[in-house]
Amino acid sequence: MAKLKSICVYCGSSNDVKPAYLRLAQDLGRTLASQDIRLVYGGGGVGLMGACAKAAHGAGGDVLGVMPRFLLEKERIFDEVPHEIVEDMHTRKQRMFDESDAFIVLPGGIGTLEEAVEMLSWARLGLHAKPMAFLDEDGFWDPFFVLMDHIIEGKFTPEDFRASLVHTDTPEVSITALEDRCIVLDI
Ligand code: AMP
Repeated sequence: MAKLKSICVYCGSSNDVKPAYLRLAQDLGRTLASQDIRLVYGGGGVGLMGACAKAAHGAGGDVLGVMPRFLLEKERIFDEVPHEIVEDMHTRKQRMFDESDAFIVLPGGIGTLEEAVEMLSWARLGLHAKPMAFLDEDGFWDPFFVLMDHIIEGKFTPEDFRASLVHTDTPEVSITALEDRCIVLDI
């Protein structure tokens, strides 16, 4: 089992969501800090992104934000933590990938889904072996797993790819599951 140093968190940027989602994001931020794991995220001060980063920072954890210049105003960078300003979305995603050992996906929208699915597609192509956990308390990501099963039934993706994906309801279990799957770290 590997000790993770940095986890990239993908999550929604909307503030107008059930408070329980924001609480879960805060809980994850605090848990990362307590386990001395750096949070790598999109840099925003809004929605679950802001909730997670502010909680991690407030609990004394390390945080790295990666924000595209054109979104600075819209996603209101959380400037109390180190961040990189990049020129485009692709560079953001690449830098978040480079700086992390594993991924956690909290509830989110199209952006969250896009980021998670792109990392899964890179894994499917054998470009990396960094594990990913989907974290929710209310089955938010169940439909995604139904879709995955549908794709696997159609034989577009092998069965063992499904087994590599974690779906949990607490930050602690997510992190442990990721550490179990993270055999080799480039460190
Ligand atoms: P959403 O889940 O739609 O609220 O988006 C969550 C985050 O994903 C926001 O910070 C978006 O800016 C970000 N995002 C959306 N699309 C991309 C992309 N193609 N590459 C990197 N980040 C993205």
